Amino acid sequence: MTRKELLAAAREHGTPVVVIDHAVVRRNYELFRRHLPNVQAYYAVKANPAPEIVRTLYEAGASFDVASLPEFLLVHRNIEHLPAKARQDYIWDKIIYANPIKPKETLEALNQYKPLLTYDNLDELKKIRRYAPNAGLVLRLRVPNTGSMVELSSKFGCDSGEAADLILEAFRLGMVVEGLSFHVGSQCTNFENFAQALNIAAAVREEAASRGGHRINIIDIGGGFPVPYDSHVKPFSALAKTINAQISRLFSKDVEILAEPGRFLVATAATVVARVIGKAFRDGRTCYYIDDSVYHTYSGIIFDHCQYRVNSFRKGRAELCTVFGQTCDGMDTITHSEALPELRIGDLVFSGSIGAYSNASSTFFNGFSPAKVVHINEARTAMISSIAR
Ligand SMILES: *Cc1c(COP(=O)(O)O)cnc(C)c1O
Repeated sequence: MTRKELLAAAREHGTPVVVIDHAVVRRNYELFRRHLPNVQAYYAVKANPAPEIVRTLYEAGASFDVASLPEFLLVHRNIEHLPAKARQDYIWDKIIYANPIKPKETLEALNQYKPLLTYDNLDELKKIRRYAPNAGLVLRLRVPNTGSMVELSSKFGCDSGEAADLILEAFRLGMVVEGLSFHVGSQCTNFENFAQALNIAAAVREEAASRGGHRINIIDIGGGFPVPYDSHVKPFSALAKTINAQISRLFSKDVEILAEPGRFLVATAATVVARVIGKAFRDGRTCYYIDDSVYHTYSGIIFDHCQYRVNSFRKGRAELCTVFGQTCDGMDTITHSEALPELRIGDLVFSGSIGAYSNASSTFFNGFSPAKVVHINEARTAMISSIAR
């Protein structure tokens, strides 16, 4: 996204505006596929559930990881044109419902689709048996999350010691465990997590075979693939090398490997442009107030433990300053240490790599609406193709 394009979007649509470049989404998907050619990518829709992004990734050949009934239906819409039989054959290839905990109403609604569902405990297994008996199962394992930006292992995943029991129990209840899954934590920059998790999965798979004679043919390596938010993040090719080496050492060729990349596919595709609406001098620093907030596009600062750079379009000698959001909450602070040239009220600023866990969590707090979202999709139209709130 060039500065000229960002300025044009702000001029045309006002601020705040989130500009999503679908060429970058496609490029990220291709990068993932190139380095992990034997891994099918199930895009984790929660990272950015814009239907336009789901469409672009569907057309690129991606599958999807969903975590709620609305997310399931959002993806399913894309395969409704297929004949019923094909749709059914297709569903596991295209969708995994990867939230280990599901309300019974959701299970009842999903049952007709014969979905692939994750579970990680006995109560959930019994609930699935009762309300979605047609489902196929994937057991979510608890794996080390050391050094990941967002930790998930305290909430989900069974311990490896109880995994085989949960698999055997599922088969005893007449269900089929098709796979094992894990999540190493989001924005995982400690690649050792993936190696350890793959080894845990391989051990559980062997135990299920030796104790119950059950062959588990799907290994779902989850999400966590890191985005280069800063220069400390090692390249994706290095992570892919680790993963590929472990996979070929631990699993035979007939084991299907899937992954659930979320932020990796969408984070770098979006940029937000906001406007300086106020200015003050406090605690020895110039403070700028912009027309977006941590309750809106910058929600990742709170929920995703992510820090975004704020950039200016104006040139000049930079000075450390504070940038606040527009709401009345003191917590609504974008940064206390950004180097910016002297800005004027009305100036525009922008933050890149803000496509994941960002505007999707926007609220209407304080009466401020979420930013407009503009999709730039060169493949379909020559210009800005759709606008949504
Ligand atoms: C959130 C989530 C993902 C995506 O994680 P990223 O770190 O964004 O890649 C994948 N799988 C599951 C089960 C998740 O909860």
